[in-house]
Amino acid sequence: MAPSGISSAAHTAVDPTASAAFRSAVDAVRAVEPRVADAIASEVEDQRASLKLIASENYASPAVLLAMGNWMSDKYAEGTAGRRFYAGCRNVDTVETIAAEHARELFGADHAYVQPHSGIDANLVAYWAVLSQRVEGAALRRAGVRNVNDLDDRAWAELRRELGDQRLLGMSLDAGGHLTHGFRPNLSGKMFDQRSYGTDPATGLIDYDALRATAREFRPLILVAGYSAYPRLVNFRLMREIADEVGATLMVDMAHFAGLVAGKVLTGDFDPVPHAQIVTSTTHKSLRGPRGGLVLCAEELAEQVDRGCPMVLGGPLPHVMAAKAVAFAEARRPEFRDYAQRVVDNARALAEGLLRRGVRLVTGGTDNHLVLLDVSGHGLTGRQAEAALLESGVVTNRNAVPQDPNGAWYTSGVRIGTPALTTRGLGVGEMDEIADLIATVLAAVSPTAPGTGEASKARYTLDARVRDEANKRAADLLADYPLYPGLELV
Ligand SMILES: *Cc1c(COP(=O)(O)O)cnc(C)c1O
Repeated sequence: MAPSGISSAAHTAVDPTASAAFRSAVDAVRAVEPRVADAIASEVEDQRASLKLIASENYASPAVLLAMGNWMSDKYAEGTAGRRFYAGCRNVDTVETIAAEHARELFGADHAYVQPHSGIDANLVAYWAVLSQRVEGAALRRAGVRNVNDLDDRAWAELRRELGDQRLLGMSLDAGGHLTHGFRPNLSGKMFDQRSYGTDPATGLIDYDALRATAREFRPLILVAGYSAYPRLVNFRLMREIADEVGATLMVDMAHFAGLVAGKVLTGDFDPVPHAQIVTSTTHKSLRGPRGGLVLCAEELAEQVDRGCPMVLGGPLPHVMAAKAVAFAEARRPEFRDYAQRVVDNARALAEGLLRRGVRLVTGGTDNHLVLLDVSGHGLTGRQAEAALLESGVVTNRNAVPQDPNGAWYTSGVRIGTPALTTRGLGVGEMDEIADLIATVLAAVSPTAPGTGEASKARYTLDARVRDEANKRAADLLADYPLYPGLELV
């Protein structure tokens, strides 16, 4: 098959100077601990050899990667640019200021906070910013003091109780929500009295009327929108309308789809930034930056958000903020819009290819970067399908589907996404080939010993000929799209 994508993936191309820099870095590590140097070198080979359909992963550019490996890491920089608790932060100030400036411009936000170390941390910063503004702020005003240290013991005890008694409404896990949206295993579930909204069982789409009814009855302090596994658009204008109606603050967690917002594929009602009071994100998923987090907010919350460290975050990571600045600058280029559009085009081609071959999809398709397969029609659990695909050279992850009978561990779904392979350069023609590969493998898997207890939900047999042929096809697909071309570590 003639390649249909962009064969030399310019984004990951490594020029000779950068290649020498990576090589020197690995050599320096090897001189101290060779096993770690080997693992680093081996990781790029694993990445090159894998047909990566994990919806939350991507490939950062050499500039982003190199921005992280240096002495910026050695600085303590608690506080914010220009207001530090440590001396000698002028270069960190520069980096943080530039990263925040790019983030504001990229997303059209009033304020950007670029310190969160990850998406989970960004959500905690956001929750505490809202709690501080609305609950603590009101208590301080009532007591006529400016600072929590000025409250007497009784008022402080009362405020602590009040902070622990707030409500949050978020998307249910099996509809595609995230653990940090108020679920018990996460701190957010212990902080908030949580209730969740789901999707319409008939269509798989968010049921806004049901959500509105729940919000009216429950009256949350915070309404959280955003997802990890919902393949459709979310109407953030409507979400804000519902939040306003019940006096809630709208928070949108765009960890998964930030790249589609940055790349102007999600605009108008589907762009969370103009509608939500506060928006959180990761920087390493579709946004294609370093592993990290981000908070954007309206001016009214800026002061509280900036207290993220030391409120809930450890000291900022200046080297990662440097890499965020580079990634945001990359995302402001016209090429990034083209990338974001190709991510969505590829996801649609993948979905159509799967549907044509009889694979069942949650909601019957996709509007974004991800596709959720329902493998129950094949008589499989997500766990079996994930393992069989991995053996066949296709890297995915299992995921619950709405009202999943197999729970969150075995599941009935497989989530796939296109951000990584699109960065690598693959196009719609390759997506159809991948759809065929996936459908062929799924048809060749059989569950073994059905109905003999929980462990049977993990066991399966896969036709070895199909497996070997799939591995060959996956390798052939990747051969046309080298990853980090020009990078040589030996
Ligand atoms: C990935 C994800 C997170 C967590 O991000 P980390 O960087 O792994 O902490 C939070 N929320 C959503 C919706 C996500 O998809």
